[in-house]
Amino acid sequence: MRALTYQGKRDVRVETVPDPRIQDATDIIVRITSSGICGSDLHLCEVLGPYLDPGDILGHEPMGIVEEVGREVTGVVPGDRVVIPFNVSCGHCYMCGQGLHSQCETTQVRERGMGASLFGFTKLYGQVPGGQAEYLRVPFGNDLPIKVPDGPPDDRFVFLSDVLPTAWQAVEYADIPPGGSVTVLGLGPIGAMAARIALHRGADLVIGVDLVPERLDRVSGYGATCLDLRRYGKNLGAAVRD
Ligand SMILES: [Zn+2]
Ligand SMILES: [Zn+2]
Repeated sequence: MRALTYQGKRDVRVETVPDPRIQDATDIIVRITSSGICGSDLHLCEVLGPYLDPGDILGHEPMGIVEEVGREVTGVVPGDRVVIPFNVSCGHCYMCGQGLHSQCETTQVRERGMGASLFGFTKLYGQVPGGQAEYLRVPFGNDLPIKVPDGPPDDRFVFLSDVLPTAWQAVEYADIPPGGSVTVLGLGPIGAMAARIALHRGADLVIGVDLVPERLDRVSGYGATCLDLRRYGKNLGAAVRD
């Protein structure tokens, strides 16, 4: 198959690599139809480079069609449309049982002092082959994939993998009281989604701050009050650009 691979600092390439295979009885193989590119992927090209080997397959925000299932998989069948969460979690350990899937005890990378493994995200997170590829091996096939309906386009669902739950959790942590307000600094994909979720969950006032006109327009369209750093925060704006 073809897959996006890490080759070195600021060097990623689409290469031909071996197709993934079923290794455990609960594995599934997914034919990827869409895969997000994350701001976190930029870290791989720079600071996290020492934790990657040339040839590692990147990508942690995929969705697609189940192609093949291991003999103990009953939760999905070939042909099902699924979104794959970026955290690799078993669904059955103590931490998963608490809803703390990012600390799954089954996939924790203890020798690095980290939490659960992630798809396509360095030896710090298990060096699991990622989803910017034609096919992806997904462990825990009965628990990890999120089944979604046929019909609507991928971009209605692909954000379930990372962007939407990450933004939702940020709003959760903000713990906005009834009738309260919240400020979202930076209106990229996560910030924009966080502003939208805060409004959806009843925040009285959502203030979005950025300096990119398209981002400000988009989040204003959701009903947030947007501040353009170029106008309101000269000093802060200079600091951000530096
Ligand atoms: Zn991501
Ligand atoms: Zn677990």
